[in-house]
Amino acid sequence: MNTLTASPLARATASAALAEAAREIVEAGRFLSLRDAVPATSGNLSRRLDARTVAVTRSGVDKGELTDADILAADIHAPPPPGSSAETPLHLQLYRELPGVGAVLHTHSIVSALLSSLLEAEGGIVLRGFELLKALGDTRTHEATVVIPVFPNDQDVPRLAERVSAELARRPEAVGYLIAGHGLYAWGRSMREARRHTVALEHLLTYELEKMRICR
Ligand SMILES: [Zn+2]
Repeated sequence: MNTLTASPLARATASAALAEAAREIVEAGRFLSLRDAVPATSGNLSRRLDARTVAVTRSGVDKGELTDADILAADIHAPPPPGSSAETPLHLQLYRELPGVGAVLHTHSIVSALLSSLLEAEGGIVLRGFELLKALGDTRTHEATVVIPVFPNDQDVPRLAERVSAELARRPEAVGYLIAGHGLYAWGRSMREARRHTVALEHLLTYELEKMRICR
């Protein structure tokens, strides 16, 4: 919605939606910070407002100490707003290409950075046999095989976004991917689901890392 030309009622509705999204993002930031998943000022979080607009965190702030002033509105079809993270295009891409996505969480946890770095050459991490797989999307059984794609880290974010886009087009069931030595992107239809997917993936990656250590 163009808030400059919209009616006062439409503007009030848009600002209430942004306030509600900001509340969820601030809460998710505290939650992830307590889990040590967004160290220093790393990570970024976003939530859809409507078909064309999302709320996203400002760059350079501790995600455990976010306030409403750190949440920016972004048009998913326009360049990222000034002050947003260099990685904002990766969020906008998910909202553009997957209309069902309601929230995206990006973490820099130890396990996501480490395991993605160790398995970068494989191009993906294969998870199977864990009961917690049932926490991911529509997965119904621990016997399912879930592949978490791993992309090489790249400071050229548009180029990285193109790689992600091509891979996710082949994996419509995906709820997350890793960037090697960097971290995890996870999403869901709502903030609640995005949080569940993030926690489940972080645990599953930890299981996998421990398995590698034990079976070495
Ligand atoms: Zn990052």
